[in-house]
Amino acid sequence: GNDGVPGRVRVAIRLRPRNAEELVADADFADCVELQPELKRLKLRKNNWDSDTYEFDEVLTEFASQKRVYEVVAKPVVESVLDGYNGTVMAYGQTGTGKTFTLGRLGEEDTSSRGIMVRSMEDILADVSLETDSVSVSYLQLYMETIQDLLDPANDNISIAEDPKTGDVSLPGATLVQIRNQQSFMELLRLGEAHRIAANTKLNAESSRSHAILMIHVKRSVIGTEETLSNEIDNCSHLVKPSKPLVRKSKLVIVDLAGSERVHKSGSEGHMLEEAKSINLSLSALGKCINALAENSAHVPVRDSKLTRLLRDSFGGTARTSLIVTIGPSPRHRGETASTILFGQRAM
Ligand code: ADP
Ligand code: MG
Repeated sequence: GNDGVPGRVRVAIRLRPRNAEELVADADFADCVELQPELKRLKLRKNNWDSDTYEFDEVLTEFASQKRVYEVVAKPVVESVLDGYNGTVMAYGQTGTGKTFTLGRLGEEDTSSRGIMVRSMEDILADVSLETDSVSVSYLQLYMETIQDLLDPANDNISIAEDPKTGDVSLPGATLVQIRNQQSFMELLRLGEAHRIAANTKLNAESSRSHAILMIHVKRSVIGTEETLSNEIDNCSHLVKPSKPLVRKSKLVIVDLAGSERVHKSGSEGHMLEEAKSINLSLSALGKCINALAENSAHVPVRDSKLTRLLRDSFGGTARTSLIVTIGPSPRHRGETASTILFGQRAM
């Protein structure tokens, strides 16, 4: 594992339980994977007597609670964002395997089911002091290489700005809403989700064919260090001025990625084909960047897609990144599960 080491991506894999349909239809068949969480291992069945073994930073079984998933996958990233570094939490996997369950669940009816977005904000709000610090949020969808504002649907083509000196990425056109409490954040998530459904209906697209991106900006005023304090005292011998507060900015980006399933090019044409190409482009660009980070390569090819351009200042360098790979147990989806596992493996 890379606990405490920024740079490389931490990869966890999470298996969702069989759903009602799988319990019935696959009753006679074993799951396509077998987990050994204590060994952080996963076995992917090849046939009745043989399997391939893979290791991950964390292996989360179908019994892992949302709380535990948050603590393992996201909490270290949130803590580092509170310390002033950027961070990213992403979910990758086939549609229906639990990306949105893991990241986006509001858990209003049952707070134990709250997902990573809600839990992250809770920890952030508990740590900052809103008199001196600020927390603000943007919520976006990236579909066919176009960024749409989920907090303002009229804003459907947002461009990415990059500071050539610092490499900082910003979205000057995106709505940024100041968060005062957990309740207003939950309302924003609900609003964003409603807008996402409406926008996708208009575009005739499934939500699984786009990336949902939540950006939480944290601005903290930090008191000058003892060094700057004593310098100031030296500079004005008879006056002890309070030291100027410094502002420290960081952001947490939470990405619910488009479904990783292969859309068979042969069977699709026109819009569907363009959509599939665009998802393949961004997920493979993401994979390449993650590989480059894993290999400690000097060149991380962030320019290949909007997704990676957007994440450029939120992974690598001092930023901390966590990837949660979600899979289902069904032997019918063994092929997709295998390719999802390989995506996660290449990140390590
Ligand atoms: P995705 O976002 O990857 O398409 P979802 O998060 O929508 O998948 O999950 C698909 C279905 O499976 C949903 O009904 C969800 O509630 C259920 N589900 C996913 N993960 C789990 C889990 N760990 N435990 C229980 N149910 C889950
Ligand atoms: Mg989803």
